[in-house]
Amino acid sequence: MATLHPVILVVNAGSSSVKVSVYMVPDSAHDNADIQPALAAHGQIEGIGVAPRLVARMADGRTVADESFPVEQIADHDAAFRLIRLTLSIGLRDTPPVAIGHRVVHGGADFSDAVRIDDAVIDKLEALVPLAPLHQPHNLTAIRAIRRAVPDLLQVACFDTAFHAGHDPLAQLMALPYEYYERGIRRYGFHGLSYAYIARQLGQVAPDVADGRVIVAHLGNGASLCAMRGGKSVESTMGLTALDGMPMGTRCGSIDPGAVLWLAAQGMSADEIQSMLYGQSGLKGISGISSDMRALLASDALRARLAVDFYAYRAAQEIGKLAVTLGGLDALVFTAGIGANSPQVRARICAQLTGLFGIVIDDVANNANQQRVSHGNSRVPVWALQTDEEGMIALSTARILRDNGGL
Ligand code: ADP
Repeated sequence: MATLHPVILVVNAGSSSVKVSVYMVPDSAHDNADIQPALAAHGQIEGIGVAPRLVARMADGRTVADESFPVEQIADHDAAFRLIRLTLSIGLRDTPPVAIGHRVVHGGADFSDAVRIDDAVIDKLEALVPLAPLHQPHNLTAIRAIRRAVPDLLQVACFDTAFHAGHDPLAQLMALPYEYYERGIRRYGFHGLSYAYIARQLGQVAPDVADGRVIVAHLGNGASLCAMRGGKSVESTMGLTALDGMPMGTRCGSIDPGAVLWLAAQGMSADEIQSMLYGQSGLKGISGISSDMRALLASDALRARLAVDFYAYRAAQEIGKLAVTLGGLDALVFTAGIGANSPQVRARICAQLTGLFGIVIDDVANNANQQRVSHGNSRVPVWALQTDEEGMIALSTARILRDNGGL
């Protein structure tokens, strides 16, 4: 067996957090065998600029850091990244990374796969900032900071949009004047790293349906659904931005654009509307209690129930819509924080799919969060699978590293 030692870092820089995962790859991966990176450690700082908190753990569960810091000590993403690196390097006896893989939310029309980062790629990603104003700038900050510090280190961008790049123009269009489509105002779809991972997983746990018509519901803080045929994405509920489709923790999902015009006519600025649609809507907005599904499921408040009912209703509706695109349904997969872990939410969604698809949940399997949660009589099998977006980034980065002679 190959010894595990070259290190790949996976960096996920969000608006107020930086997450870094350390993967080891086999050093003999220069043949064509599939590379399987192994997670060695994970560190994250949340609350940057507000109440920074560092948590770092080795893959064996050992905690190497769990502490809060004064705001001024970790004032920005740069400082957060340096501290996580330092903390993890102690646990890993300072093995320097051979490559860094970044989660980048928007690859626009140019990128249909992970790509090695150079100045031209950075320019293209910069041009996409207006399409993902809350995520893309932080992704770029991390890329630039590392490039300044270690200019020769291989950096790879892995996109949330890339898995959807093959969509038919019908799935990309919005009925605006056509010139906007040509200018890139089109439906891209997101959560592609999660869907790519699930497509791979499904090939292993359910090879009989993996090549068929599959709908995957990624239900986390952000939420979207993807229709796949033959393991490839053909439609997504998310569009130009990560606001479209399902209602989410704090995002509104699809709403009548007339509502946005109404808010603007009331005198709200574009920034105020943006912050309402991204941060004050969805489960949080309806319930007035929390964006966290666990808190809502535990609450007796009427509006908490309304929020969960609406969430399940909209998810079921989107599944119906995607099944039209697929011309039927061979399997339904739930994933991400809510999808993989919440029997109640899965049961509520699936209860609305019995009439149309003959879906029947097996209560015992569902309540135990088993992988297959549907009953033997269910016309369409239903799965609950954990996703691993960071593992997917590590794999793409390792492949590009190998193709560049780095392994
Ligand atoms: P992100 O999109 O930030 O990666 P996650 O995929 O971790 O988020 O999903 C977070 C959501 O998952 C939260 O709403 C949380 O309440 C929910 N969640 C996690 N575990 C459970 C559970 N056991 N039951 C219900 N909801 C859960």
